[in-house]
Amino acid sequence: MRRIATEEAWSFPEHMAAILALTKSNFDDLDLRLPRRSGVPGSPLYNGLTDTDGERLRIMDADDVSMHLLSLTSPGVQMFDADTACEIATLANDRLAAAIARHHTRYAGLGAFAPQDPKRAVKEMERAINTLKLNGFILNSHTNGEYLDNPKYWPILECAEALDRAIYIHPRCPSRDMAKPYGDYGMYTALWAFQAEVSVHAMRMILSGLFERFPKLKIVIGHMGESIPYNIWRCDYIYGVHKGWGDVPGNLKPSEVFKRNFWITTSGVEHTPALKYCIEVLGADRIMWAIDYPYQVSPPAVAWMNSAEISDADRELIFHGNAEQIFHIAP
Ligand code: MN
Repeated sequence: MRRIATEEAWSFPEHMAAILALTKSNFDDLDLRLPRRSGVPGSPLYNGLTDTDGERLRIMDADDVSMHLLSLTSPGVQMFDADTACEIATLANDRLAAAIARHHTRYAGLGAFAPQDPKRAVKEMERAINTLKLNGFILNSHTNGEYLDNPKYWPILECAEALDRAIYIHPRCPSRDMAKPYGDYGMYTALWAFQAEVSVHAMRMILSGLFERFPKLKIVIGHMGESIPYNIWRCDYIYGVHKGWGDVPGNLKPSEVFKRNFWITTSGVEHTPALKYCIEVLGADRIMWAIDYPYQVSPPAVAWMNSAEISDADRELIFHGNAEQIFHIAP
């Protein structure tokens, strides 16, 4: 069976160096804690992220993983000033296209862009798809505490919809406005903050009504839906209350938008009850498999999906069929 892993992180030395340079400053942005620890050249994480020709392919071969859909590791370019962000996004996309060209049966990739400059972001998005033939886009959640419901980012949404390419909203640490209660006990990472941050992002987009303006926009979120599937019934119920109070602009229920415009991946969540629940609530055609390499290890993610108690038809969709369709990967 073909296995396409859809949330696999990569980076390159210039990107890692630019992040590492930010860590030399003394502000305690939560996003700088992890690279301060493990983003230095020579660390296992640095090596795992920056390798596309060696160990990564050997690990894929050992587990029969057919393909990694690569995305620039969090927080991508979103901590940089606009000029640096645009430059590094362009370089990232060139390097990614080169890695795919070297191993075209093993890699596909999501294009980076700099939301700090929406006009240049749109140009880079068009280049990423039309010239570099990448498969969609990666966004590492908030940009300076702002989310895609802000109208200044709508040209980015318009562009993604026109190109029919999904935007994968990957977590990063909470913004400075949201940071304080996540600062202790390791909560600033995927331990808890990541799903809180991305679910806030997704719900802002859903409740703003922007999907009525961009009805064909495709958004992908990881980690079994960042808790949204589990809460969607109550979201609909309370949405009705707020609709009565006149403080939500959208006319579609949260579940209607979520089931129409969102796809989820299993990245980092190798838990069969959660998978079965999401198949029941969303349908197997909305779910894609992912490992979250190199942050999580490959063998258990593969073994879990190989043997999860679901139908083989659903397994085919989740392992590769949906990814081929959503990310325009040749079957
Ligand atoms: Mn990830």
